[in-house]
Amino acid sequence: MTPKDVSACAPEEFDAIIVGAGFAGLYALHRLRGLGLRAKVFEAGTDIGGTWFWNRYPGARCDVESLEYSYSFSDELQQKWDWPERFAAQPDILKYIHHVAERFDLRRDIVVDTKVTSATFDEAESRWTVVTSRGHRASAKFCIMASGNLSLPRVPQFEGLDSFKGRWFHSGLWPHQTVDFSGRRVGVIGTGSSGIQMIPNIAEQAAHLFVFQRTANYSVPSVNRPLTMEVSQTHKARYREWRQAARQTPFGIAGHPPPEKSAFDVPLEERTRSYEAKWGTGGNISFLYAYKDMLVDKDANETACQFVRDKIAETVSDPKVAKLLMPNDHYIGTKRLCLDIGYYETFNRDNVTLVDAKTLPIETIYEGGLRTRGADYKLDDIVFATGFDAMTGALLDIDIRGKNNLALTTKWADGPGTYLGLMTAGFPNMFIITGPGSPSVKTNMIAAIEQHVDWISDFIVHIETNNYSTIEADSEEENRWVAHVNEVADQTLYPLANSWYMGANIPGKPRVFMPYVAGLDKYRDICDDIAAQQYKGFVLKKQPVQATQ
Ligand code: FAD
Ligand code: NAP
Repeated sequence: MTPKDVSACAPEEFDAIIVGAGFAGLYALHRLRGLGLRAKVFEAGTDIGGTWFWNRYPGARCDVESLEYSYSFSDELQQKWDWPERFAAQPDILKYIHHVAERFDLRRDIVVDTKVTSATFDEAESRWTVVTSRGHRASAKFCIMASGNLSLPRVPQFEGLDSFKGRWFHSGLWPHQTVDFSGRRVGVIGTGSSGIQMIPNIAEQAAHLFVFQRTANYSVPSVNRPLTMEVSQTHKARYREWRQAARQTPFGIAGHPPPEKSAFDVPLEERTRSYEAKWGTGGNISFLYAYKDMLVDKDANETACQFVRDKIAETVSDPKVAKLLMPNDHYIGTKRLCLDIGYYETFNRDNVTLVDAKTLPIETIYEGGLRTRGADYKLDDIVFATGFDAMTGALLDIDIRGKNNLALTTKWADGPGTYLGLMTAGFPNMFIITGPGSPSVKTNMIAAIEQHVDWISDFIVHIETNNYSTIEADSEEENRWVAHVNEVADQTLYPLANSWYMGANIPGKPRVFMPYVAGLDKYRDICDDIAAQQYKGFVLKKQPVQATQ
């Protein structure tokens, strides 16, 4: 059957349809099943895993420690699973996701290799119908978008890419077989988290690596190491307490006491000692949590920026290269602070060249390589570490129609509007997991996912127990929430950076700061309070009773 024929068939019926089988979709399936709901997951990838299925580039690993970047909902799971490293590598995270799917028998309700192309709300029936790339039609009372914040990879529209005779890759669409760069001239475009993770690894293999850097980024050492049995056991002995503590933090990560001092409460020497200690300990949370005004005060922030620049100068032997690597157009932490293993050191290698793609931008790709405004680079391989259409991309890629056939693309033409990042007015019974307007990407994402899924599950229990047919965000309340999200962001330095948090990486995308940055702890309290007030701000409706003859 072709997708065209599908409208002829009656849709398969479920209580809930979940789009995406990453951490969010898998946990949603588990929870909804636990409520006795019939749920079905559709996943575009050929297997489960989301981010960790797609991003297989060399060096891919998490930047939140694995003991925290993992589900907390099952004590048995967290006790049984052993992470090999402090920051697990992509294959180990994917292994963990597979283990979760087996342990909770999730696969039988997941359809892979199947992209949801449209989702339409039927007002008369109070149900969503989704259509997929493989011709399924399925309908359900609830539609749960677990489609990911960083799941729509973006290759910039470089002229001539089609003519390139070598191989090219995107970090978020990495092949499943090992890519061997030995003996090849490789160009990596992009120096965000993905580029910074892969560059040291590719440099070890390639005959020559050209790094095309448009904007220098801040990176701090991860200080990754194997997790010894002793460290794991000690953590596991108090795992519940760790998780409980994490829930009461802004980032959803325990073990980092909130800073009490401002950067200028202490003299320069003490500040430097503190940054030095954090640099040596590793991790980005530790670094950004050095002083309480780090992300709100430009001068305080600049002290940390300068510390990193000094580290670059110490590490990179060629002063010109070092200077080019020093970020100077944004405040540290206002773009995702990268974690690396030997990134700056890589530029001391003879087979690595840093290309300034800001002063002399990339102009064309041709069959044998890439041309910037200033020079020609013969390349065998090009790697795009150019990021994603973040936060709204995957949602707007689906033709989502709410009440009165309103398209989500129309509603969000000037930027996403949501209530709590969970629902958007005009689209009843559709939940978004870690949507724009929620803490999402500014936290340990698994903690944010669990909070959302748990809250949605409780809401569904309330809806079903009280026989509501539809629930929807109230548009006034939504406007107030969006204003609040902006107001909170405007008290920080975040909106000053041209980041993907602002949509700034996609030409033409509305510039709106999307995450809610008051912290996951505060946000959790707000959500719980709203639930305690009978879901204040949501409009709950019952189906009119049909007259019987
Ligand atoms: P995803 O994992 O993105 O899963 C969404 C799934 O939905 C995808 O598999 C996609 O194929 C599917 N999908 C999308 N649209 C459709 C459709 N129309 N039909 C069917 N399926 C669809 N966060 C952290 O907190 N810590 C980290 O260390 C960290 N590291 C990261 C490293 C990389 C390389 C990247 C890219 C992101 C990282 N993140 C990290 C963010 C990461 O995305 C989240 O931590 C988490 O994995 C998101 O899970 P998810 O299920 O919400 O989304
Ligand atoms: P990104 O942060 O958006 O970085 C994209 C890079 O590509 C930037 O350096 C950008 O330069 C460059 N670029 C884009 N278009 C370009 C062009 N036309 N010419 C030259 N350069 C261009 O993307 P990402 O590195 O994939 O990371 C996205 C997010 O995923 C991260 O912020 C993080 O949240 C997550 N992630 C996490 C990890 C981890 O450590 N666990 C690893 C990877 C990803 P400009 O800055 O000038 O636009």
